[in-house]
Amino acid sequence: MAKDKISVIVSCYNEQDSIPLFYGEIDKISKEMSKVDFEFLFINDGSIDNTLKLVKELSQKDKRVKYISFSRNFGKEAAMLAGLEHATGDYITLMDADLQDPPELLPEMYRIIKEDNYDQVGTRRVSRRGEPLIRSFFARKFYKIINKMSKIEMVDGARDYRLMKRKVVDAIISLSEYNRYSKGLFSFVGFKTKWLEYENVERVAGETKWSFWKLFKYAIEGIVAFSTAPLSIATVFGLIMCMIAFVAIVFIIVKTLIYGDPVSGWPSIACIILFVSGVQLFCMGIIGMYLSKTYLEVKKRPIYIISESTGDKNE
Ligand code: UDP
Ligand code: MG
Repeated sequence: MAKDKISVIVSCYNEQDSIPLFYGEIDKISKEMSKVDFEFLFINDGSIDNTLKLVKELSQKDKRVKYISFSRNFGKEAAMLAGLEHATGDYITLMDADLQDPPELLPEMYRIIKEDNYDQVGTRRVSRRGEPLIRSFFARKFYKIINKMSKIEMVDGARDYRLMKRKVVDAIISLSEYNRYSKGLFSFVGFKTKWLEYENVERVAGETKWSFWKLFKYAIEGIVAFSTAPLSIATVFGLIMCMIAFVAIVFIIVKTLIYGDPVSGWPSIACIILFVSGVQLFCMGIIGMYLSKTYLEVKKRPIYIISESTGDKNE
């Protein structure tokens, strides 16, 4: 029987310090898993350091190493998609280059898929040790909110690190949306999933590419991609306003009939106008967010552009 092949996809953005360490680790694991063939697919996401050079050297030294290099930085989501589309293995895993996704979990993940008949094994960190407290706080709140708003379950602490059967990967590739929010896409496709838990590990070298602001925007992206609940906010606000207005009208009519009323009350009118226009702008903003995502979707721009890869003629 032919050997199983595992494709390891590694997205790299300025990871020159992590790559040698990462390769050392994954090479060690691949030797332990001698019953399996390996392919290491490095995606260089427009790095401006020596990442590409290092990966090219590795690919000359080790035939299992392949690479795809983007024409600029397209983001981790794009890098993961490129990896999934180009991986040739029967089983596919996504890992970060910084060793925050411990390669030593791989043998166990493979065993679970093979023996316990799961379609994919995901990983989840149960602690956020080493992370700024404020970041953990907002991350927890985000998962609470999005799980209330969306039918698709988002697992708190779930990493992109997972081992999948080919059929799961094919399902993910078939989702051709431009605004990719992987955590949601992985849940959306379903399949029998087992979660492995582990303690958070800090990155070995280099630094995180996620600022608080970037994470915030990513969170909004997740909500817009997997929930339409915010769109109903306008309706809810509108209804509440109508009810308040109705009560106010009755109140004013009755008051005028009983006491008669000289012209007064302009400060309250000014407040009402300000408040109502604020609510209107807020709701228009929400609609605008969905509209802008739809706009990007209909343009059908490519999610990534490759500038070079292993096997190019000019090598
Ligand atoms: N990454 C990428 N493109 C980007 C940003 C990040 O390919 O635009 C890669 C990065 O090289 C790393 C992984 O995505 O391998 C996770 O990034 P990082 O460690 O900065 O995120 P964190 O672990 O802090 O969430
Ligand atoms: Mg990391």
